[in-house]
Amino acid sequence: MIKTDVLILGGGLAGLSAAYHLNKISKFSSLIVEKESRPGGTASSISKNGFTFDFTGHLLHLHDPYGKAFIEDLLKGNLRELKRSSWIYSHEVLTRYPFQANTYGLPDAVIDECLFGFLKTIHASRENQKKTSPLSFKDWALKNFGEGICKHFLFPYNEKLWQRSLDSMTTEWQGRFVPAPKVSEVLYGAVMDQKKAFGYNASFLYPRKGGIQSLPNALASRLKKNQLAVQSEVLSIDLKTNQALIKNLGIVSFKRLINTIPLNEFISLLKEIPTRVERAASELSSNSVYCLNLGVSGKVMSGKHWIYFPEKKYPFYRVGFYHQFSPFNAPAKSSSLYVEFSRNSKSKVDLSELESLALKGLKDCKILGPENRALVKEWLPISCGYVIYDFKRTKALNVIFPYLAKKKVESIGRYGAWKYSFMEEAIMDGKRCAEKLALC
Ligand SMILES: Cc1cc2nc3c(=O)[nH]c(=O)nc-3n(C[C@H](O)[C@H](O)[C@H](O)COP(=O)(O)OP(=O)(O)OC[C@H]3O[C@@H](n4cnc5c(N)ncnc54)[C@H](O)[C@@H]3O)c2cc1C
Repeated sequence: MIKTDVLILGGGLAGLSAAYHLNKISKFSSLIVEKESRPGGTASSISKNGFTFDFTGHLLHLHDPYGKAFIEDLLKGNLRELKRSSWIYSHEVLTRYPFQANTYGLPDAVIDECLFGFLKTIHASRENQKKTSPLSFKDWALKNFGEGICKHFLFPYNEKLWQRSLDSMTTEWQGRFVPAPKVSEVLYGAVMDQKKAFGYNASFLYPRKGGIQSLPNALASRLKKNQLAVQSEVLSIDLKTNQALIKNLGIVSFKRLINTIPLNEFISLLKEIPTRVERAASELSSNSVYCLNLGVSGKVMSGKHWIYFPEKKYPFYRVGFYHQFSPFNAPAKSSSLYVEFSRNSKSKVDLSELESLALKGLKDCKILGPENRALVKEWLPISCGYVIYDFKRTKALNVIFPYLAKKKVESIGRYGAWKYSFMEEAIMDGKRCAEKLALC
């Protein structure tokens, strides 16, 4: 039987970071078990015929001083800094992101609706300062942006992304993800091409070579020999005996457990759990993201990084261009694209049908022309893509986390902590978790 002080479930960035920092600051041994044949989780890449594809564009937004210095050190000499160029395509026009501050260029009637609705919200908020919480995302968006901006962007785009009715969702996730421009900026952006950068990701870093996979690879290369076991899926966990059954390894016994796999899946692997915890886990929901990666001949969408598609006639919610993140992501005279679809995680999906819809949509909006031949097509599905912030989530987490704390289990990362977060945060989660365990 294999024995380790700390067993880490999942070799994504959170798990890798936890192991690295445990090595650095504690005497504990640790072992990461990862079901795939490579580390990285959603921050992975694959290479095919000279194209490098991520699981949709994975761009580094670094805000924490430690996280920034650590990631820059991991990718020393292999980083490019880029100024975001992101757009929205609607009414057959490209407008700058974010929609609410950049309606310039849309048909006059659309601009009028957006401005009129927005100005009404200012008047309404002066009339009534009372808080009516908790607001659904739908009510919050209407209250803050007005009917026009909601009708032309916030509602259709978010319904496409989340695959949920927006009145069942809370506002807990939106803080940094939905920019809130000033009144003057909304007005200015309706009459002028406003070039001001808004939001958390106005500039970003991306690896020069190797796609985002170079980040988990660099982190994994700093671990001890045999500390990461790939092709080792966790099959079941017994928290009474502190033993886990792992594919290809057998029984692994541990003193402490760190989980980074999706929280609801993790709970389903535990033996003998209280019914209330099982029930709470069944209340957690997520969407699934289906990423169609395309390598095509010729150069497309020069200078643009990604485009949002709110309109129903386009089946995808976003299309991005890896070759604009780094020229090494595609062979010369060719382009590489990611096309993102979202579905309810319980829906059955026919990928060949989605592929036809994707190719038609890309031609309709003129991203692809007759000169662009598809050279490579690669689907990368993400079964647990975005955690849904509905009104059941917090209640369920308030049952699950105290139970796990009693059992001395740490559950971290984007899916272990069941949240909307980024790569840098996954790395910081791993660090904080190691610091906590080092004190035990
Ligand atoms: C569509 C999309 C776009 C994104 N874009 C960005 C971006 O541009 N910038 C950014 O910073 N972040 C982005 N993110 C977020 C980023 O991918 C995550 O925050 C981060 O990579 C999460 O790391 P993690 O270790 O917490 O989870 P994961 O990467 O999911 O790691 C968990 C690991 O557990 C493994 N696993 C699962 N089940 C088992 C099992 N039973 N046994 C063993 N192993 C198992 C998985 O294979 C995986 O490797 C995006 C995410 C998505 C879904």
